[in-house]
Amino acid sequence: MMETTAPTDPGAGVRGATAALVLFSGGQDSTTCLAWALERYDRVETVGFDYGQRHRIELDQRTVLREHIQALSPRWRDRLGPDHTLDLPVLGRIADSALTRERAIFMQENGLPNTFVPARNLVFLTLAAALAYRRSIHTLVGGMCQTDYSGYPDCRDATIRAQQEALSLGMGEPMTIQTPLMWLDKAQTWALARTLGGTPLVDLIVEHTHTCYLGERGERHPWGYGCGTCPACALRADGWRRWSGEATP
Ligand code: ZN
Repeated sequence: MMETTAPTDPGAGVRGATAALVLFSGGQDSTTCLAWALERYDRVETVGFDYGQRHRIELDQRTVLREHIQALSPRWRDRLGPDHTLDLPVLGRIADSALTRERAIFMQENGLPNTFVPARNLVFLTLAAALAYRRSIHTLVGGMCQTDYSGYPDCRDATIRAQQEALSLGMGEPMTIQTPLMWLDKAQTWALARTLGGTPLVDLIVEHTHTCYLGERGERHPWGYGCGTCPACALRADGWRRWSGEATP
């Protein structure tokens, strides 16, 4: 049950499934996952979590991204269903409690900001699964990735497979968690976006997704907006450079 196979076909296992719920934060990864799901499922709904994020820019971008992505393809427009937002102030309180000791946000030696909430993805996936169940959806899609590993243990494939098993047992119905980016690096994630939606999708992701830990949106780089130096920006920029270098003969 817990074997960690490395799927070469990111669409493996979705036969017969017609609906999916995408964990959609408004970042590069979850937007790529949304396009991936729109290509594969007849009905695609999205869920976001509001836990009083210090930077609301990601949440604000979700609506913009949903509007723009359905304009890219009539099929995607037909398939895109409702958006759900779940309020999780308790997660914000856990994150804040770290800040009462250290007021400044800084990057820890493990490359994570000190506002990091351990096991956050497990909470998100559990709530998403409960929502999916009520919506008669048996597939969750998330942008967790182990390859360009940013240090979050709850992004690892073994964690996701274990939670898929726990959710299926705990709800008494199979719940599949699809993670199309799990084995891709950030350059391959840009490549996947172009495969799914061509240059218009790449442009949309550059212009409207938000990744930066510091909430910077002042400076526009070739890869999008961000401070350019936090770990999230560094990963995104490095992936862009490798992909665009590879894409240009
Ligand atoms: Zn940044």
